[in-house]
Amino acid sequence: MSLIDSHCHFDFEAFASDRGDVWHRCRARGIEKLILPGVSISQWRSLFALVNSEPGWYGAVGVHPWWVKELAIEPARLQRAIVERVVHERAGNDCCVAVGECGLDAGIDTPMDEQVAVFKAQLRAAKELHLPVIVHCVRAHSEVIRHLKQTPPERGGVIHAFSGSREIAEEYRKLGFYLGVGGTITYARASKTRHALASVPLESLLLESDAPDMPHAGRQGERNSPEYLPEVAETLAQLRGISVDKVIAQTEENACSLFNL
Ligand SMILES: [Zn+2]
Repeated sequence: MSLIDSHCHFDFEAFASDRGDVWHRCRARGIEKLILPGVSISQWRSLFALVNSEPGWYGAVGVHPWWVKELAIEPARLQRAIVERVVHERAGNDCCVAVGECGLDAGIDTPMDEQVAVFKAQLRAAKELHLPVIVHCVRAHSEVIRHLKQTPPERGGVIHAFSGSREIAEEYRKLGFYLGVGGTITYARASKTRHALASVPLESLLLESDAPDMPHAGRQGERNSPEYLPEVAETLAQLRGISVDKVIAQTEENACSLFNL
């Protein structure tokens, strides 16, 4: 039994100076696999160079909403670029496991129609590649749900760092999506999200750090790290009134199933 961090930006500069040490501490705490999302075309090459350097690290190919404004190609060309990169990465090994991270973010100033075009291109790429999608959604659940219904990725995906109500969680579940559980649940004030994630079936949940972002309660302002993932598992177990072993075992099975690990 081991922990899988289903969403960790471990390639980011924040880990440049001590990545090996952090990974060593992760292993000591039972974390054996990390999924590293793609965020921009210019990052894919270095991301996979890193992913290919360590068994247990996996990558995804995508364009994050925050990087849409620097995207210099048309959505149709982006779809081709993703397909070509995934085919290239999968030629040597099985380290490329998803399309993403992609999605919609109502908290940034990039116009929503530009974000939608880029998101839809990635949903089409996922469909073409028979891969799951890693979705970033901030204050845009109804739009994301509409596009997932219009272009359903056949392998489903995950709504990473899920934050929302029980009703919204159910909508995603019906679409075959998992919900990513991260540091948000360590904050008592996140009662709506805590309630939703305590009540949906454990078979629909994945654990994630979203490191270096999303520091846990008590660590605001610090770099978040995948080594803290056991605290997310412990908090989820407390909220659900079950053992942490059960949380770890089921979420590991879920992640292996979604990403075909
Ligand atoms: Zn992310």
